[in-house]
Amino acid sequence: MIVITALYGLLIGSFLTVVVDRVPRGASVVHPGSACGNCGLRLGFRDLVPVFSWLALRGRCRQCHTSIGTEPLVLELSTAFLFGLTAWEFGFSWMTPAYCVLMAGLVALSWIDLKTQRLPRPITYWTAGLGAPLLCVAALVDGEPQRIWMAALGAAIAYAFIGGLYLITRGRGMGFGDVVLAPLLGMYLGFLNPGIVPVGLFFGFFIGAIVSVAMMAFGKAGMKTAVPFGPFLALGTVVAVFVGQDYIDLIFTR
Ligand SMILES: [Zn+2]
Repeated sequence: MIVITALYGLLIGSFLTVVVDRVPRGASVVHPGSACGNCGLRLGFRDLVPVFSWLALRGRCRQCHTSIGTEPLVLELSTAFLFGLTAWEFGFSWMTPAYCVLMAGLVALSWIDLKTQRLPRPITYWTAGLGAPLLCVAALVDGEPQRIWMAALGAAIAYAFIGGLYLITRGRGMGFGDVVLAPLLGMYLGFLNPGIVPVGLFFGFFIGAIVSVAMMAFGKAGMKTAVPFGPFLALGTVVAVFVGQDYIDLIFTR
């Protein structure tokens, strides 16, 4: 089941390649079909098999041999990895598809934020719109309806925290896209345990601080360089989904 979920991740990752290319431009993700950016060759089935097409063509267009870059490979493999990890963590339950939706959304949002310093709200809304009903189903099927309230509480905690920080810092260091993203992250972490919400945010800030200091140390960034904050929030959330509870247990059982 972990393998099958990971294979789904490859397909979704392939779709995310289209999403990260088109959504920032405001283009439709379903129409028209994919084409080579250089020669306009319409990509057919044999060009779109995740990973294998890329390897067979060595990352180049079949017709004009222009490099298509490693972006499809990175997105497909990272999505597959996260989907496999999710299946491993949650097993054969509704939580697996629910959290796969989160993983896919965060991969797309992080990638776009790294490239364009923006977190397009349609992706946040789609992730929440697909994820919330799946979480509700998971809670009801597992006979734990209280998790719906826990998720709502988690969303409120994250929104209050990031929103408050946004107001205090007057938008320096984070964008409004981060504020819009916060309730989505809080919903998913709160579903597990509202106490994991601050842990996930802490992980995000911690990773962000380390990377920022490292970038400054290596002269890649100055104090005024805008470092996108979304990927760190996303990474902190992913880490908290998998080890947040262990972290809390570690602290409170001393
Ligand atoms: Zn081409």
